[in-house]
Parts: sequence; C-alpha cells; structure tokens
Amino acid sequence: MQINDLVKGNKKFREARFSKYETDLKQLTKDGQNPDILFIGCSDSRVTPELVLDTKPGDMFTLRNVGNFVPPYNPDNDYHGSSAVIEYAVNVLNVKHIIVCGHSYCGACRSLYKDLGDSSELINIKKWLELGKKAREYTLLAAPDKNDKEYIYRTTEKVSIVYQMENLLTFPYIVKRVKEGSLQIHGWYYKIENGTIEFYDGSDCTFKPLEEFKNES
Ligand SMILES: [Zn+2]
Repeated sequence: MQINDLVKGNKKFREARFSKYETDLKQLTKDGQNPDILFIGCSDSRVTPELVLDTKPGDMFTLRNVGNFVPPYNPDNDYHGSSAVIEYAVNVLNVKHIIVCGHSYCGACRSLYKDLGDSSELINIKKWLELGKKAREYTLLAAPDKNDKEYIYRTTEKVSIVYQMENLLTFPYIVKRVKEGSLQIHGWYYKIENGTIEFYDGSDCTFKPLEEFKNES
C-alpha cells in the first residue's frame, strides 16, 4: 500500500460506495452523531473494527491506542487523550456500551515481555505499556509452562482485556452509570487470523464465541 493508493481508494469510495451511505451521512450532518457504542481497540493496522463488525458511519465512537489499554482515572491537568475520548463518549454522547476489544498477535502485549531499553525515543511507549503489567504478572503466575510463548502471548492479550475493563471502573461517572444500568462494559477478543470474536463472560470468567452473546438492551 502506497500513499497514492489512498488517493485512488478515496476516488473508488466516492464513485462506488458513497451513494450507499449518502442518506445516512446527510442525516448525521444535520443531526450530529449519536452513537450508542464506544469501541476501544488497538491501533494495530490489522485491526479493522468497521470492517469486521459491518458498521456504518455514526454507529461507533472509536478510541484506538497502543494495546487497547485504558489508563486509570486521573483528573489532573495533563494531556490524557484516551481518557478524554472516554469522558466525551460517556458524559456527552451518553453511550450505552463500552467495548474493550483486544486482539490476537498484539504487538503491545508481546512487548510486555521485551526489554525496550532506555531510549528516549520510546519513553512514552514504555510508560504506556505499564498498563499491561498486571496482565503479564497474572499470565506468568497462571502459565503451566513459562516457555510456551503461544500460551503466554494469547493469554496476556485476553487477561489484559479484563484489567482494562477494571480500569474503566476507576472513572466515577462510569461507575455511576453502570450502577444505574444505563451503561454496560464489554470485553471482546478479535482473532485477526480468522475474523472471529469472543466475548468475556464475567459469570465464569471465560471467553466465548460472540454468537453466544446475549444482551437485553
Ligand atoms: Zn494490538
């Protein structure tokens, strides 16, 4: 993929597919967006939420960052990009669902097992990856074989989702809405190798095929 392909891609989109969305987009321009879902996914180029969930413009407010991590609530005066997205989605857009979606072969989760050195060029990444530390610790404790990299990486990716869901509950306005029943938090795991998604079932702490997912609201 070269940058010129993007120019061609947009032309193709306008000529072949824009008409499919035109009515919706005109309405959304008039009314503004009103998505029910905040999707938190990884920045990984192989993760393509709109494609694999077959969504339309206006369906999902999206946060993507390294590792689909959720930083803990921190109401100081610093630049908290991810928290700003969460704050806007919950307090302004009043989303009804937050999906934390991890994925297989996640470079961020794998990096938790690497020494990134002391380079100032990775200073922000190193700090950010601390958000996966608990997932790494849990996985290493639970791993039957510490040399089984496949098990370690895949488990870390899934365990991290649960910790990021927990981090969402450090935001007081999220806790309030969850208690009221106006907001639900979901943990999903996307397998890039076959397009399937599993959801986290808190009742028995396992991931199950998305086909079995049931939701009343
Ligand atoms: Zn990733």
